[in-house]
Amino acid sequence: MKYISTRGNAPELSFAEAMLTGLARDGGLYLPKKIPTLSHDEIAALAGLPYEDIAFRVMKPFVGESFTDEEFKGIIARAYAGFRHAARAPLVQLAPNHYLLELFHGPTLAFKDFAMQLIGQLFQFELERRKERVTIVGATSGDTGSAAIEAFRGLDNVDVFILYPEGRTSDIQRKQMTTPDDSNVHALALDGDFDDCQARLKDMFNDFEFRDGVKLAGVNSINWARVLAQVVYYFSAATALGAPARKVSFTVPTGNFGDIFAGFIAKQMGLPIDKLVIATNQNDILHRTLTTGSYTKEGVKPSISPSMDIQVSSNFERALFYAYERDGEAVAKLMEDLQDGSFKISQGALEMLRDTFASGRASEEETSATITAEFTSSGETLCPHTAVGVKVANEHLSDVPMITLATAHPAKFPDAVVAATGAYPDLPPHMADAMQREERICKVPNQLALLQTLIKDRIASR
Ligand SMILES: *Cc1c(COP(=O)(O)O)cnc(C)c1O
Repeated sequence: MKYISTRGNAPELSFAEAMLTGLARDGGLYLPKKIPTLSHDEIAALAGLPYEDIAFRVMKPFVGESFTDEEFKGIIARAYAGFRHAARAPLVQLAPNHYLLELFHGPTLAFKDFAMQLIGQLFQFELERRKERVTIVGATSGDTGSAAIEAFRGLDNVDVFILYPEGRTSDIQRKQMTTPDDSNVHALALDGDFDDCQARLKDMFNDFEFRDGVKLAGVNSINWARVLAQVVYYFSAATALGAPARKVSFTVPTGNFGDIFAGFIAKQMGLPIDKLVIATNQNDILHRTLTTGSYTKEGVKPSISPSMDIQVSSNFERALFYAYERDGEAVAKLMEDLQDGSFKISQGALEMLRDTFASGRASEEETSATITAEFTSSGETLCPHTAVGVKVANEHLSDVPMITLATAHPAKFPDAVVAATGAYPDLPPHMADAMQREERICKVPNQLALLQTLIKDRIASR
């Protein structure tokens, strides 16, 4: 299995190489040259299997020669051993024909653990084999950073630097990043918003001297291995509800378009998904794009669902690649236009996107009202991101079962939950002392050169 760039101008890589590289050298994102498919019978056979077995069968065709079956099974087993639910991704019913897919039973209580725990094991295995070290730099709106630090802490072959927007994460998210005291993990509080963090990260990848000097690797959702890990729970959930004999729909609270793009891949692989519904908060660039055909950046407005406070949805480029019938040059041109703040999607590409995706948005008031309503109607306590999903899903219910992705545990965002329900969402027992642990805070300016110097110095002194 070979991987190609969305901009058509970077070397083809194996799965392991694409995973270690992150962003392609032409600025694009890696995708499989051809998406493998599972037959009706192969999908039907997944129903009722342990999550790890489903993960192996769904992901193996993408991995190709990079890992043997035995190696890959071991990696998957280690990745999900730390989850606190036997089903890993259990379904809960909210209403007739509406289900929640709980993706918050991993070590940092958000769905990012599904991909990050796997990537941690994949990196460790591959770097040991190669006798290499890498420097991981990640940008986070809160959950990616804590999941990455948890997945890579204490590993010998990896230094991890996480850029988070100072003052824009929840307290528990910040604590999860700043309290691990392993010498290979570094949380950096950047003076800016999430898009600034992501922009500096892209700058580092595009500075080839720095990139090669520190052996830069990325674990943001631009990393193909992360998207791949997320494809699995679309299969586990859909087959639990009767796929492939029965179609299902998914609603996905979206920021960087990584999680919902994994659903798109599941559909291309043959999973009978009826609708993939994009749910945005007030930072609604994706909903506006589907509605108007024009992708136009506006300023980020901080919200009660901060992990979705994003205006530049990196993985949308991957969807554009397919919408433009795999024309890398056309995608490169759109991304060039975006430098000036906006691009317009051609009629043909827009129709393809609208065939696959529906969309909706939730205002701050609607998000909060949804948490309140669900607390009464089903007794479920939703995190504010999940509430955005449930609000939009409610507008798309039909006779096809709807599965809304519950992306974080409510206790990760207690302020929004208390405001909406009056009840304080308790952390699970293994996290109960998180707020008391001692923090290491390192503030950094939004300046590329200074950040690069800091990273080089920290690596040298390890
Ligand atoms: C990251 C995150 C999202 C958005 O996921 P994307 O893959 O960036 O679209 C939604 N909810 C929570 C809780 C998250 O951490």
